[in-house]
Amino acid sequence: MEETNVFSPLDLGFTKIQNRILMGSMHTGLEEKKDNFEALSEFYVQRAKAGVGIIVTGGIAPNLQGRLTPFGHQLSFPWQLKKHKNLTQKVHQYQTKICMQILHAGRYGYHPFIVSASKSKSPITPFKARALTMLEIKKTIRDFANTARLAQKANYDGIEIMGSEGYLLNQFIAPRTNKRTDKYGGTAENRFRLAIDIVKAVRKKVGDNFIIIFRVSMLDLVEEGSTFEEVIQLCKLLEKNGVTIINTGIGWHEARVPTIATMVPRGAFTWITKKVKEHINIPLVTTNRINSPEVIHDVFKGQFADMVSMARPFLADPDFVSKLRSNQNELINTCIGCNQACLDHIFQGKTASCLVNPKACHETEFLFRPTKKLKLAIIGAGPAGLSSAIEAAKIGHDVTLFEKSVEIGGQFNLAQKIPGKEEFKETIRYFNAQIKELKIELKLNHKVEVENLDKSFDHYIFSTGVRPRTPQIKGIEHQSVIHYDELISGEKRLLQGATAIIGAGGIGFDIAEFIIHQNHKPTSLDISEFLKEWGIDQNYQQRGALTKNISAPHNGDQIYLLQRKVSKHGKNLGKTTGWIHRHSLKNSGVKMLGGVEYVEINDDGLHILIDEKQSCLPVKNIIICAGQTSVKEYYEKAIDILGEEKCHIIGGAHIAAEIDAKRAINEGVRLIHSLGE
Ligand code: NAP
Ligand code: SF4
Repeated sequence: MEETNVFSPLDLGFTKIQNRILMGSMHTGLEEKKDNFEALSEFYVQRAKAGVGIIVTGGIAPNLQGRLTPFGHQLSFPWQLKKHKNLTQKVHQYQTKICMQILHAGRYGYHPFIVSASKSKSPITPFKARALTMLEIKKTIRDFANTARLAQKANYDGIEIMGSEGYLLNQFIAPRTNKRTDKYGGTAENRFRLAIDIVKAVRKKVGDNFIIIFRVSMLDLVEEGSTFEEVIQLCKLLEKNGVTIINTGIGWHEARVPTIATMVPRGAFTWITKKVKEHINIPLVTTNRINSPEVIHDVFKGQFADMVSMARPFLADPDFVSKLRSNQNELINTCIGCNQACLDHIFQGKTASCLVNPKACHETEFLFRPTKKLKLAIIGAGPAGLSSAIEAAKIGHDVTLFEKSVEIGGQFNLAQKIPGKEEFKETIRYFNAQIKELKIELKLNHKVEVENLDKSFDHYIFSTGVRPRTPQIKGIEHQSVIHYDELISGEKRLLQGATAIIGAGGIGFDIAEFIIHQNHKPTSLDISEFLKEWGIDQNYQQRGALTKNISAPHNGDQIYLLQRKVSKHGKNLGKTTGWIHRHSLKNSGVKMLGGVEYVEINDDGLHILIDEKQSCLPVKNIIICAGQTSVKEYYEKAIDILGEEKCHIIGGAHIAAEIDAKRAINEGVRLIHSLGE
C-alpha cells in the first residue's frame, strides 16, 4: 500500500474518525419513498462495512419551505426518529461515523412554497422564491437547530450543514441572490449572518461533542458569487463559532461550468481547498472528481486537505475503501463520471443507481444466492456479457466467456477513445481484473459456431452486441463515407477538408468531439487547460472565480452535425451532461443542421434538402452515426438447436434502439439473478 495519511485516524478531540475518507452526500431517491429506509440502510451498511470514515447522508430539510420537492424528506418531529435510529444502529455495527446532512433548498426547491434571501427565480427551476421575512429567518434558525437536535437523538454522530451549490445559505452568502438591506444583507458579514446564526444555534442545542460539518462554496462559478477573501472570512467565522470540519463545495447548480462530469479532469478542484487550508486550523475536506487511489494519495502527498470526499465512487463500488486498504486497486469498479444512472435518474424522479454497478441503491434486490451451481456460456464480451459473467461468477456459477475479437470491451473500446471519455478504460480494466480474480474461463479470438457449442451448459447467454446501421442514401458507397467505428478504431482516416456527420445521437456528438480534438490533447487530461476552456480563474480576480474569456479549442476544418429531426440537437443526451456537449460543440464552431433530408453523396460532397431547399455541403468526409442494428442471428440459431429455455439474449443484441451501456450492464446483472434457485 502506498504510504500516505489516508488510513491514519483523524482525531477530533471528542471522537476519532478511523480514516480520511468521507462518503459525500448523495440524494438516492430512497429517502422519500414509503418503507424504503430498509433499502437506504442496506445501501449505507454496505459502505460502512467496507470501512468508510464518515458517511454523510442525502440532504434532509429542516422545514417545509426548505424541501427540495413537495414530498421531499424533512426531519422536524420526534415521531420521525424511529427509522433514523434503525439506520444509525445498523451503520454503527461498524466503526464508521454517520452525519445527517441538513439541506434547505431555498430557491432551488421544486414547489410553490420556496423562499430565498430576496425575491428571485433560479434559471433551473420553474417557481419564483419570495424573500424570507425577519420572523421567518428566526424560525429557520430554530428549525435548523431543532433538526440537528433530532439527528443527535437519532444517534447520528453529527450533521453537515449544506452551505454550497447555490442552496439557501449560499443564496444568503452571495450578492448574486442576496439583495437585502436589513442585517442579513449588504456587507459580507451581514450576508454570512444567517449561516453563522444557524451554526451558533445548532452548537448550543447539541453541545460540544457532536460533529458539525459545514459545506462552504469555495468556488461559486457564477457571476456575483463570493470573492476569495469572503470565502476565507466565512471559514474563519465558522471555525470560531463551533464548526468541526469544513467541506468543499464547487459551483452552483445553475453554473454553466462542468464540475463533476467525466470531461472534468480528476482532482480538478483540489487546489482551491489547499488555498483555503492555508488560512484555517480545523480539518478541511476536498472533493469533486476524486475517483481513484492515485488521486487520493496525491491529495495527501501534496497536503491539499485533511480528508477526501467521494460520493459517486461509492455508487460504483461499495467496497472501494476495503480494496484500497488491501491494495487491490485493480479490482475497484471506478466511477466514470457519466452521471447517467445517478444524477440523471434523480433529475427524472427515479431512484439513483450506477451505470457500472446497477446494484447501487437497489442492494436489497440482489441478496439472493443460488443453491445450485450453474454452468453458463456467455457469448460476447461487451458490457452486457461482461457484467453477467462477473455477476454469475461472484455468486458462485461456473462461467465460460466467448469473445470473437482479441480483447474484451465491445463498444467500450470505442468509447474510451473519445476525448473526455478516457475513464471508460477503467471499466475495461476492472472487468479484466475481475475475470482473473474470479477465474472466469475467457476464450478470446473465438468465434462461436452455434452448431458446435458444447451442449453441457445449463444456460447460453447471447450478448453479441450491435452493428452500425447503414442508411439508404444514393452514393453511400462513395469513398468519402466512413462508419463511426472505422474512424474511432483508426481503420480509416479523415481527408483534409470539411466533415459531415450523419446522425446527431450520442455517437454523432462523440465523433464531433473526436474530430475537434484530433490534433491536440483533450482538456479532460489537463487541469489548467480545462480551467482555461471553461473560464475558471485560479487567481480568483473576480467574484465567483470566473474569467470573462472562454477559449475555443477548435480552429480546423468545418464540421456539420446533421439530423432529420427538427428538435434540438442532443435532446436525448444525459439530462445533466447534454448541455456540456452542446456548449462544447457550439464553442468549437460545429454547425448543427436539423430537418435534413439526405439526397445524394458524390465527388462534390453531401447533397441535402432542408425546408425543400437543396444545397450541397462541400465535404471531404461523411461519417455515418445513424444508430445500430442488433446482432441476433446467433441467438436465433441457438434457440432452434438448444431450446428456448436455455437461451437468453441481452444488451444491444436484444434491443439495439437507444442501447447504452447502462441498459446493457443492468440487463446482464439482472438476468443472472433470475437464473437458478
Ligand atoms: P442514437 O442516439 O439512436 O442516434 C442515432 C442518430 O441517427 C439519430 O440522430 C437519428 O436521427 C439518426 N438516424 C437514425 N436512423 C437513420 C437513418 N436511417 N438515416 C439517417 N439517420 C438516421 O444512436 P447512437 O448515436 O448510435 O448512440 C447509441 C446509444 O448510445 C444511444 O442510446 C446513445 O444515447 C448512447 N450514447 C450516449 C452518449 C452520451 O450520452 N454522451 C454517447 C454515445 C452513445 P434522425 O432520425 O433525426 O436523423
Ligand atoms: Fe459514476 Fe456514472 Fe455510476 Fe454515476 S452512473 S456513479 S457517474 S459511473
